[in-house]
Amino acid sequence: MSSEKPWKSRAVVKHADGKFRCAWCGTDPLYVRYHDEEWGVPLHDERRLFEMLCLEGAQAGLSWITILRKRDNYARAFDDFDVVKIARYRAPQVARLMKNAGIVRNRLKVHACIENAKAVLALQKEGSSLDEVLWSFAPKKTRRRRWRTLGELPACTAESDAMSKALKKRGFRFVGTTICYAFMQAVGIVDDHQSRCYAITEPRRAGRQSRAFAGRQRSAHPRRSRQKPRFLPAGTKGTSEKRPKASFSN
Ligand SMILES: [Zn+2]
Repeated sequence: MSSEKPWKSRAVVKHADGKFRCAWCGTDPLYVRYHDEEWGVPLHDERRLFEMLCLEGAQAGLSWITILRKRDNYARAFDDFDVVKIARYRAPQVARLMKNAGIVRNRLKVHACIENAKAVLALQKEGSSLDEVLWSFAPKKTRRRRWRTLGELPACTAESDAMSKALKKRGFRFVGTTICYAFMQAVGIVDDHQSRCYAITEPRRAGRQSRAFAGRQRSAHPRRSRQKPRFLPAGTKGTSEKRPKASFSN
């Protein structure tokens, strides 16, 4: 992120539909939909986690909206993120990818996807999974302060440092701590929706209600429908049905 002043003080923005959303998603429908349906929603699907890891790596140095616009091209170019197929890519496939204008044609990033696919296969061979490894870096604290402005959002944390270190050790590439933190936000390992954003998921995950967001619960995430049941911390089994009643008191 740049160190320019204006964006730092930006709080949630009220959209035409009356909902307050994080300031970063702007008004581009693609970005708004990503914010509403995916960003911060706990994701456990192995293939989709791999997709997000590749896309976050591809984003390095570019804007996220650039990657979102290329996302379908990525899925087509990379066999819908099938790690078995990608791990087998050799020079001809790399040459094909480097000619594909629909993706970020950066040789290091293309190779990173291939190496990352191999690293995921190695994990699975050990009886582990990307899901297990990545979620092991979820912050232990279930409750923390909610960020009001964009400037307050962290770029990395102790957990993202640890995730980055562990992934690099396992042969993953393009997994620096800031990429890891952006990934943690994207797949819901952390919920960094700004204070008063309607998409906040935390009340259910934390097992207690955020005062400001007591009234807001999402019932369905179409793009996440393929995933396993959402993550629930120990001791909160079955509480997902008991959703807080609307009592917006802010
Ligand atoms: Zn938000």
